[in-house]
Amino acid sequence: MSQPNGGNFDIVILGAGSGGYAAALRAAELDLSVALIDKAELGGTCLHRGCIPTKALLHAAEIADQTRESEQFGVKADLVGIDMAGVNAYKDGVVSRLYKGLTGLLKQDKITIVAGEGKLVGKDTVEVNGRRYTGRNVILATGSYSRTIPGLEIDGTRVIASEHALKLDRVPSSAIVLGGGVIGVEFASVWKSFGADVTIIEALPRLVAAEDEEISKAVERAFRKRKINFKVGKPFEKVEHTENGVRATIAGGETVEAEVLLVAVGRGPTTANLGYEEQGITIDRGFVITNERLHTGVGNIYAVGDIVPGLQLAHRGFQQGIFVAEEIAGRNPAPIDEAGIPRVTYCDPEVASMGLTEAKAKEKYGADKITSYNYNLGGNGKSQILKTAGFVKLVRLNDGPVLGVHMVGARMGELVGEAQLIYNWEAFPEEVAQLVHAHPTQNEALGEAFLALAGKPLHAHS
Ligand SMILES: Cc1cc2nc3c(=O)[nH]c(=O)nc-3n(C[C@H](O)[C@H](O)[C@H](O)COP(=O)(O)OP(=O)(O)OC[C@H]3O[C@@H](n4cnc5c(N)ncnc54)[C@H](O)[C@@H]3O)c2cc1C
Repeated sequence: MSQPNGGNFDIVILGAGSGGYAAALRAAELDLSVALIDKAELGGTCLHRGCIPTKALLHAAEIADQTRESEQFGVKADLVGIDMAGVNAYKDGVVSRLYKGLTGLLKQDKITIVAGEGKLVGKDTVEVNGRRYTGRNVILATGSYSRTIPGLEIDGTRVIASEHALKLDRVPSSAIVLGGGVIGVEFASVWKSFGADVTIIEALPRLVAAEDEEISKAVERAFRKRKINFKVGKPFEKVEHTENGVRATIAGGETVEAEVLLVAVGRGPTTANLGYEEQGITIDRGFVITNERLHTGVGNIYAVGDIVPGLQLAHRGFQQGIFVAEEIAGRNPAPIDEAGIPRVTYCDPEVASMGLTEAKAKEKYGADKITSYNYNLGGNGKSQILKTAGFVKLVRLNDGPVLGVHMVGARMGELVGEAQLIYNWEAFPEEVAQLVHAHPTQNEALGEAFLALAGKPLHAHS
């Protein structure tokens, strides 16, 4: 007996996270009909368990630190405590307002929202609760989940993942963070600001290891100053329960005890048992392999977001969703340059970067073809006012464009927009040096770095 028909659409999208819902919105703008399927809330990881709630926690953490340090600015205030119920109410309020807004945006004639778990059952068909939804095109956007390492079971209470950490109703007295990447250092930063004793364990030789080496050094220096403990280059071996929490053992036998252990060792693609391989889609270590136009090579099936190998970032998912909708509409969009995607880590101090690290640039072009320059925020008026330390580092091809911008210090994430334009427009430092930056802003640090690299430094101390 054939399954009941859910309808025929121009596009069937499986997953309504950053990648899926962006594709739906752009497709609807292009007059294409869409079925948008999700088993959970519209908005996916970023809105409900990722970008937004973590950044709300980080903002509350910043307020706690500012209160503690207020006397440095001549303001008398005492930090009486962290009311996690209040922090969570603030965080959840932000999420629910954005969720309401997104739901409103998606409620339109061209988009049919389907609630339920979907499975690809044909090259043009997704089945949900026994109903079949057929599309001239299909976009897979099923996102990712918190990964763990073999033998380490996430129990949700003592050994937790980021989704559990976001729901804690208390500040743990102490925490071990397994993984010194973006998610790990962000939670370490929040918990320390909230008063917890934090230790990060990282198998790689440095924190935020995907960033330029000098950025890692600056984050480590700042974390040492903040008394965030970290053990780098030390693989984790095992965890045991103690009377009040957990005990982690790292290579060499050293142990660390804490109330909770956060597993932040990366995100795995959600692709198992969804019918992808049965339809002939190539899967590599769980990821969906596509060409640069995000086509899977099977039927009219595309993939976007965290299931496609590369940076697992919401704005990459948005861009890929828009790209595929335009591709399907015959708009022939330009492929997305992965190196042109901005990256921000919102710990304190904040890290923001674009393009190639100095090491990668030297590897690609040869060491003698690369010049780098560090502008210390010590020379920047606004950074002095904020009492933040850090730098803006530029990497350029000699007699050529800017290849990388790497920044560390308070509020550096807000500078990544200009860095992004500079990188993506392949600007030469001499061209950027002609542009005027408002005084006193931290943005000026970027302008000053370019002045220095163009051979005409202003407020630069050598
Ligand atoms: C703690 C944390 C912090 C983060 N912070 C940032 C940040 O600051 N900035 C940033 O850019 N990125 C951040 N990210 C990453 C960002 O959340 C992801 O890159 C983004 O959500 C990926 O979008 P996506 O559409 O690929 O998948 P997702 O957002 O994961 O959405 C996938 C959707 O598919 C649905 N789904 C899966 N399987 C099925 C099925 N069988 N049937 C129906 N529906 C299904 C899921 O319910 C989900 O809604 C963070 C992530 C985490 C975990």
